[in-house]
Amino acid sequence: MKIVVLGGGESGFGAAYLAKEKGFEVFLSDRGIIKPEYKKLLQENNIDFEEENHNEEKILAADWIVKSPGIPKKADIVFKIKQKGIRLSSEIEFASEFTNAKIIAITGSNGKTTTASLIYHILKNDGFNVGLGGNIGKSFAKMVAEGNHEFYVLEVSSFQLDDIQNFRPMISMLLNLSKDHLDQYNYNYEEYALAKFRIAENQENDNFFIYNKDDEMSENLLQKLAIKAKMLPFSLKEKVKEGAYATENKIFVKLQQEFSMNVEELSLVGNHNIANSLAASIAGKILNISDQSIRNSLMTFQAVEHRLEEVAEISGVKYINDSKATNVNAAYYALESMKNPTVWIVGGVDKGNEYAEIEQLVHKKVKAIVCMGIDNQKIIDFFKDKKDLIYSTSSMEEAVQVAETVAEKGDTVLLSPCCASFDLFQNYEDRGNQFKNEVKKLINI
Ligand code: ADP
Repeated sequence: MKIVVLGGGESGFGAAYLAKEKGFEVFLSDRGIIKPEYKKLLQENNIDFEEENHNEEKILAADWIVKSPGIPKKADIVFKIKQKGIRLSSEIEFASEFTNAKIIAITGSNGKTTTASLIYHILKNDGFNVGLGGNIGKSFAKMVAEGNHEFYVLEVSSFQLDDIQNFRPMISMLLNLSKDHLDQYNYNYEEYALAKFRIAENQENDNFFIYNKDDEMSENLLQKLAIKAKMLPFSLKEKVKEGAYATENKIFVKLQQEFSMNVEELSLVGNHNIANSLAASIAGKILNISDQSIRNSLMTFQAVEHRLEEVAEISGVKYINDSKATNVNAAYYALESMKNPTVWIVGGVDKGNEYAEIEQLVHKKVKAIVCMGIDNQKIIDFFKDKKDLIYSTSSMEEAVQVAETVAEKGDTVLLSPCCASFDLFQNYEDRGNQFKNEVKKLINI
């Protein structure tokens, strides 16, 4: 069988590596430049590849084509593959064909990495033989090729779900829906949302689907969809009979029996993280993990880097790095979780942000706005009648220095940009790291 893999990043290399392991004839094609580390791996593993080109003849001669999530659905080559009727699978679909391990798959617009990492922590602490990957860290295909786990916790994006056929998690989870990546879905919110729901489409009645009862779009679409898996909701607003919910100061997780815990014992802060903790706890309960063990893991979990990560406290001012907040919804939850007057560093590449969604919260929590990036003017224009203190800066160094000058003892400086990072930084990690470096410089002054 001839396998062609499109894309030469983590997913693409993983799929090619797995295909080679299984003895198939493999060819990998990337229309861009392949990063040196992956090129080296391809060469070391004798995998035939091309870059800066798509050799159509070779690609269209394949029996099965594996698409990396980064290849746009509307790419010319994808169109031609579909026209010719060649089987086209996403990398997670391809990998799932070669393992009998149990899959816990997490999707949603925000919170995937946090929740996947938390579930992994819960399972690992309880002695499970578990791997973590997908959209974070290692690709699923690479993990399957290395092959020694009984469980896989996978962060799954809508792009990976677009091309599944049989992918069937034991537990699937849709954390929330908000408008993102709509350019890839004909600017149609429902189409994007339905792509996420595909996580449950192959599940049977011995599987589980965990969903957010407070999410309007999810609730609406659930009316129309016939999900076979056992459905378990979580909610921050109302009690549920089975599933999980939170009151002001307690969380409750109910399957056969009930487990509860004080909110203040959770290591993660913010309402969004209570929701993430509820979803993760349901998965723990399904797997019969003891209450004590789940509680312990929820107490000891360390926030993932760049997500409401506490960096330092300097002269009574806390510095928090939430660089991963690349949309308004994520920044909303960050601001909501702030307990002190906040100096908010915001900005970058605007993806069509509607700041009205956070206007009231900014009014309540933010004492000064430090804009940083290419689209400062939009932020300044929106907030100019509402906030006295708005500063425009054009580098992280400048932004942190201004924030430090404005912040007083008892305040928090929060980097939660609402925007993409590509104007001033390589990516959100680079942005977060630069923030941390600038904050560390303040300690040395
Ligand atoms: P993802 O992997 O879906 O991008 P992350 O866990 O990396 O999600 O978090 C991305 C951003 O969204 C961070 O700023 C984080 O604080 C925020 N966030 C985390 N969980 C949620 C949630 N359930 N709802 C809204 N925002 C969230």
